[in-house]
Amino acid sequence: MINNMEENIIEVKNVKKIYRMGKERICAVDDVSFTIKRGEFCCLYGASGSGKSTLLNLMAGIEKLSGGQIIIKGKNIHKMSEKGLAKFRQDNLGFVFQSYNLMNSMTALENVELPLIFKRVKTKKRKKLARDMLIKVGLGNRLKHRPKEMSGGQQQRVGIARAFVSNPEIVFADEPTGNLDSKTSQEVMDLIKEMSKQNHQTIVMVTHDRRLAEYADKIIHIFDGKIENIEYPHKQSVTVSEITSAEHTGEPVIA
Ligand code: ADP
Ligand code: MG
Repeated sequence: MINNMEENIIEVKNVKKIYRMGKERICAVDDVSFTIKRGEFCCLYGASGSGKSTLLNLMAGIEKLSGGQIIIKGKNIHKMSEKGLAKFRQDNLGFVFQSYNLMNSMTALENVELPLIFKRVKTKKRKKLARDMLIKVGLGNRLKHRPKEMSGGQQQRVGIARAFVSNPEIVFADEPTGNLDSKTSQEVMDLIKEMSKQNHQTIVMVTHDRRLAEYADKIIHIFDGKIENIEYPHKQSVTVSEITSAEHTGEPVIA
């Protein structure tokens, strides 16, 4: 059990991403290595243009690597077939987007049902799971509303319900509160944190906002495509075993 809790669910090894724009080469992610433990809330934090979204998209298998490896649950996701990767994502990953990415023609309930339709969950069970999840995020009275009939905060709650409804082990979130005011942002962050801690889910979130980064157990500071520092904002000090294991995995030791 203890082993299981301490498992590195994500391993990022010497990851590189180079974009070619005509003659120019942009190294968006430059030889980055770190690990994330099961149940950890991890934040990729840095200025705009530092490579956070690129790194997240590589970790989620949305973009192709230029070099290195990404291992999730022991599997090298960039070695999978397209079909295999699609299935792996369906079974293990959830996504929350800055712009919500809801289907405008569908109700809140139908939006939350979508991932379950892809997983071929039967109608009755699907509707119940989606409804229960919307109640959980505080939208029990908005089931039949369409995105345009809801506030930004409500739409993102639907986005969160959709990401969590299939109980994925890992949820990726790119600036999930980027379009929200600060009070609503806090509410949405509290919700993401509460949901993930309840089910021991792993969160990888991108933000450029220090206050939001502090919701995380671990803050990975990104600068110019590289890791500048790894910070544990809620820990008093680092234990010897952590330093040893960090050295072992090639993860930079906390500055
Ligand atoms: P962040 O999310 O930290 O703001 P990004 O990962 O979006 O940063 O971008 C990192 C760098 O890579 C930037 O310099 C950006 O211009 C460049 N970049 C991102 N996506 C592309 C792309 N599809 N083609 C070319 N360059 C890109
Ligand atoms: Mg970004």
